[in-house]
Amino acid sequence: MMNKAAVLVIYTGGTIGMKAHPVTGELVPFRFEHVLEEVPELQKFCFRIDSYSFDPVIDSSDILPDFWVRLALLIREKYDQYNGFVILHGTDTMSYSASALSFMLENLEKPVIFTGSQLPIGLPRTDGKENFISAVEIAAGLDQQGHALVPEVCIFFQDQLFRGNRTMKYNAEEFRAFRSPNYPALAEAGIHIKYNRKYILYPESWDRPLLVHTQVGTDVVVLKIFPGIEKKVVEAILNIPGLRVVVLETYGQGNAPSLQWLLDLLSGAVSRGMIIVNVTQCPAGSVSMDTYACGIRLREAGVLSGYDMTTEAAVTKIMLLTGQYFDNKKVKELLSQSLNGEF
Ligand code: ASP
Repeated sequence: MMNKAAVLVIYTGGTIGMKAHPVTGELVPFRFEHVLEEVPELQKFCFRIDSYSFDPVIDSSDILPDFWVRLALLIREKYDQYNGFVILHGTDTMSYSASALSFMLENLEKPVIFTGSQLPIGLPRTDGKENFISAVEIAAGLDQQGHALVPEVCIFFQDQLFRGNRTMKYNAEEFRAFRSPNYPALAEAGIHIKYNRKYILYPESWDRPLLVHTQVGTDVVVLKIFPGIEKKVVEAILNIPGLRVVVLETYGQGNAPSLQWLLDLLSGAVSRGMIIVNVTQCPAGSVSMDTYACGIRLREAGVLSGYDMTTEAAVTKIMLLTGQYFDNKKVKELLSQSLNGEF
């Protein structure tokens, strides 16, 4: 355990480090040294802050699973040298990356705090500075025993710290861009940073070795139910060669139209070994396939409950599990367990 805190800031790109192109006006990423120059306040912290920049830095819309692998491997490489990590990342896919990392970094005992901004850091009204500075302070936070205050993968945005795999990008314009509708904030930043320790996941024992999972499967699809969805669409999706898991986005508490062809297609896919996980299209609340007849029929067709998981958490958890296990039975078993507080 290190006595003096040290934080590694990892810059991947996103609006926080963008500026307008002088000719076209489009937002393009700029180099990390310039991002740091915009936040001289960081020098007031009495702990070491090092930085690492991806090259090239990217808009998070361009992030693919192999980027998560690079991030996870970088954290493994630097794990013993730092008390915590801040990842500057675009907001568009931040919830996917944070969810993915939460499943990749098993036995994590240090903070991995994603943050970014809605306005570039060089602009006068930027939200990037406060997000960045508070994220660094949280990443360095230790309790009296020298253990991390938040040993989890999180997103810090607009005064709130959330468990990463509970978040979704909720607002494309407001500074309060992220929500965690089904789980309370882990910390709130006002004059002081107040940690809600009863909501934070702490290990039963410390000093376990970090295990990094880097096999990511992509044989997954999200199928959103809507009134009038056609049989040929569902049929085509369920017959995609090699497809292993379908995340079925249903109405309300996990309901879908009680069309016989739909139930037959779903139960047929399940009997061929495909996994179908039910998550709700509602931003908040949980799937409960015991309440309405149309939900009960889905359960009888072999559809699995995703409880109150976000689509982002469901997709990335499935990607990690199918990457690790070739057997869908094992994937199914682990999908029904909460691995990192995701439901
Ligand atoms: N398109 C940007 C990105 O995700 C948006 C942002 O950072 O807010 O990289």
